[in-house]
Amino acid sequence: MYAQQETGMAAAHRVVILGAGYAGLAAAVQLAARVQRRPGMAVTVVNAQERFTERMRLHMTATGQRLAELSIPELLEGTGARFVRGWVTAVDADARTVRIDDDRELHYDTLVYGLGGVADTPAVPGAEEHAYTLSGAPDAELLAGRLAGLDSGTVVVVGSGLTGIESAAEIAERRPELNVVLLGRTEPGATMNTRAKAYLRAALDRLGVQVRSGAEVVKVLPDTVELADGQSIAADAVLWTSGTRVSPLAAAAGLTVDERGRIVTDASLRSVSHPEVYAIGDAAAISQGYGVMHGTCQGGMPTGVHAALSIDRVLRGRRPKPFRFGYYHTPVSLGRGDAVVQFTHPDDSPRRICLTGAMAVRYKETVTASPWPTYGRMKKMPASGAFWPRGGRFTRVRRAK
Ligand SMILES: Cc1cc2nc3c(=O)[nH]c(=O)nc-3n(C[C@H](O)[C@H](O)[C@H](O)COP(=O)(O)OP(=O)(O)OC[C@H]3O[C@@H](n4cnc5c(N)ncnc54)[C@H](O)[C@@H]3O)c2cc1C
Repeated sequence: MYAQQETGMAAAHRVVILGAGYAGLAAAVQLAARVQRRPGMAVTVVNAQERFTERMRLHMTATGQRLAELSIPELLEGTGARFVRGWVTAVDADARTVRIDDDRELHYDTLVYGLGGVADTPAVPGAEEHAYTLSGAPDAELLAGRLAGLDSGTVVVVGSGLTGIESAAEIAERRPELNVVLLGRTEPGATMNTRAKAYLRAALDRLGVQVRSGAEVVKVLPDTVELADGQSIAADAVLWTSGTRVSPLAAAAGLTVDERGRIVTDASLRSVSHPEVYAIGDAAAISQGYGVMHGTCQGGMPTGVHAALSIDRVLRGRRPKPFRFGYYHTPVSLGRGDAVVQFTHPDDSPRRICLTGAMAVRYKETVTASPWPTYGRMKKMPASGAFWPRGGRFTRVRRAK
C-alpha cells in the first residue's frame, strides 16, 4: 500500500523521520512547517506509538503517576507531515528503504534517524531478564505494576546518574514504606559543584534513600543484586539505569557508528558515510569542541531543528551550516517537592550557580513541560524553534567536513 503511494509521488522528495521523541518531533515539526507550501515534498514520521513519550517523566510513570495524553498525529495535523505508526525493523541504506514490523516498506531520499537510546541491560548478566528499565513508557508501566504489588521490601536502583537519582528519589517519596537503595560507581551528582552535590545528597538522605557509591554490579538475579566485592543485596525489584545503548539498526545498515552504535555525523549532522542520512538526539555521535555530545533533551531538540534547517537549505541548493550547541543546565528532580538545578558551562562543567528547593522545582517543571508547547509554537512560527545556546568559544572550532 505504501509502496504504491510512494510510486504515485515519484516526483516528490521523500523525507522519512525515524522516531518521534524529543529530537525526531523537533525535526518533523520544523521541517514540515517550513516546506508545507512547497510542492514536491513528502515528509513522513515513523514512531512506535501514537502517544508522545515524555521520557523525562518516565520515573513518574514508574511510580504510578498519570501523564498527559499527548498525541503525535494530532500535533502533526495541518503540517502536511504523514504519521506512520510502526516499529522500524531495518534500514537499507543502499536501496534507501526502511522496513516496518508489518512488512511495510518506505522509500526515502533523505532519512532523519532519531530512534533514541535504551538502558544498557546487556552490560551485566541477568539485568536484561530480571531488571526493570525506563527505556520506554511500557517498561516504566511494568515497574509501576511491580511497585504497586509491594507492601514492603527493597527496591534497588542501579546507576547513580541523573535517571537513577530522579528514580530513587521519586520512589522513596511516593513509597516511604519501601527501602530504596541507590547503587553506583560514582557518588550521586558527581559532576555538580560542591553546594549542589551536598544539597542533592541531603535530599536523598531525607527521603531515606540508601546511597552506596563505588559499587560495581556484576550480576542481577530474580531477587538479588551481586556486587564485584562479593556482597549481595536482596531486592524485590531492580531498576537498571546504568548506561545507554542504541538500536543496532544503524550499524546493521552499514552506516558508520561509534563504539556505542551511535551514528557518527559531520558538522551539519549528516552521517559521515551516508550524507543523505541525518542523525539526531541520543542516537547520534555529534562532536563539538568539548567532545562528543551526551544524550539530553536540551541538546536533542536543537539537533532535530538543525537537521530540518539543513535539509531545507540543501533542497534550496545551499550548503548546510555547522551545528553548534553548548549545555546550560542540569536540572534534577528529587521527588515532586524538591529539586536541584546545576547551571553549567557549555562543555557541561558546573558553574558556581545552582538553584535548590521550591525555585528549582518550578524551574525543573518548566523545563520538563516545555517541549510540547515548543512544537506547537514551531508549527506556526518555525523560526521560534531555532534559538538555543551555541556554546561560544567552547564550540568555535574548525572541523572536517
Ligand atoms: C527519567 C529521565 C529523566 C530525564 N531528564 C532529563 C532532563 O531533565 N533534561 C534532559 O535534557 N534530558 C533528560 N533525560 C534524557 C532525555 O529524555 C533523552 O536524552 C531524550 O529523550 C533523547 O531524545 P531522542 O529524541 O533522541 O530519543 P527519545 O526521546 O527516546 O525518542 C525516541 C523515539 O523513537 C521511538 N523508537 C525507538 N526505536 C524505535 C523503532 N525501532 N521503531 C519505531 N520507533 C522507535 C521511541 O518509541 C521514541 O518515541 C531524561 C531521561 C530519563 C529517562
